Amino acid sequence: MQRDNTIFELIEKEHQRQLKGIELIASENFVSEQVMEAMGSYLTNKYAEGYPGHRYYGGCQVVDEVEQLAIDRVCKLFGAEYANVQPHSGAQANAAVLLAVLKPGDTFMGLNLAHGGHLSHGSLVNTSGILYKPVGYNLDEKTGRVDYDEMEHLALEHKPKLIIGGGSAYSREWDYKRMREIADKVGALLMIDMAHPAGLIAAGLLENPVKWAHIVTSTTHKTLRGPRGGIILMGKDFENPWGLKTPKGVTKMMSQLLNSAVFPGQQGGPLEHVIAAKAVAFGEALQPEFKEWAKQVQKNAKVLAEELIKRGFTIVSGGTDNHSMLVDLRTKYPDLTGKVAENALVAADITVNKNMVPFDSRSAFQTSGIRLGTPAITTRGAKEDLMVEIAAFIEEVLNDPENPEVIASVRKRVNERMKEYPLFAY
Ligand code: PLP
Repeated sequence: MQRDNTIFELIEKEHQRQLKGIELIASENFVSEQVMEAMGSYLTNKYAEGYPGHRYYGGCQVVDEVEQLAIDRVCKLFGAEYANVQPHSGAQANAAVLLAVLKPGDTFMGLNLAHGGHLSHGSLVNTSGILYKPVGYNLDEKTGRVDYDEMEHLALEHKPKLIIGGGSAYSREWDYKRMREIADKVGALLMIDMAHPAGLIAAGLLENPVKWAHIVTSTTHKTLRGPRGGIILMGKDFENPWGLKTPKGVTKMMSQLLNSAVFPGQQGGPLEHVIAAKAVAFGEALQPEFKEWAKQVQKNAKVLAEELIKRGFTIVSGGTDNHSMLVDLRTKYPDLTGKVAENALVAADITVNKNMVPFDSRSAFQTSGIRLGTPAITTRGAKEDLMVEIAAFIEEVLNDPENPEVIASVRKRVNERMKEYPLFAY
């Protein structure tokens, strides 16, 4: 068969784009060679509907071992009792939980999308908002942090069956204990979507929601540094941390509901090659080097935020506890939209995404902010010194975002600098 040069040339072009630029998209990362090798393996040829030991296809003895290893490793990583490693993506993991615990029309709560929540937490254009009745909670305008008093007030008023925590553009630690108290008060289940900070949680740098929530979901490709995909976890005995036990067998019953919601509820055959790559990534995350990497991600984010603040930028909530930050452009550049800022930075080979800031007066297509994150650049070996340089590059471009000479000059220095950093340095 003839080699498909058209596609492989495009893949190489994307490889070169990744190599020469500074990647600051908070949800992206670079995976190791062995994660990539597992994804491009013979396992892609195998159908395996069902779960290890209970499949609807023959010949699953090897993939059963692979999937069980992925389950065991992720349970060890987060101290979980139950894991489903089959969701094809984070959004599908969330949809499966909603399918398992809600009926169409049921009320649930999630962080408002415009305040940093995710589409799958109740946006009206997502199945979560189409099939169920979402009530959004918000950030406090003054602090830029989740307003837990408002959350409690809304929970008492609307009596949701489920409360979702976690978000896509929230740089602060969550108060899982307070959320569990609120959920218990109104008889709701608590689900935490830890997709963004999962790697920092695995490294023990942030609070582990598995201890507090009934159900935890995550993607595997952000700070967890694995292949694109999703997971669902549950902690011990489905009980709350202050010892109030739920009847025996509830966790088991819930695990059956969750498994059925993933398959056959919304998926067919699992992607066993991706599950193998998840297992490799979980194995890497269990190693001491991963903790060092995660610490550096957090350090780099702190330095980048501080350097931007020194240059007069506003960071929502005043800083970051994790790997990400939301820059509110309105104070330094009242007329600059996130869209123009994103385009100018991308033209200078600094990849970021525009993002609404809380209480934004601009639409989601324009926005007044950009979101930045340090996982990918840290995987390339970046330390604090590069963060200082990056803050200066960002300011130089945004001071004159429509000036092609400035953009070309910054791009040249960015490309030169990135020659010193391999894609995966750990
Ligand atoms: N949950 C959160 C908090 C996210 O930020 C994202 C993606 O950005 C998702 C879920 C969805 O993940 P996926 O893109 O794999 O569906």
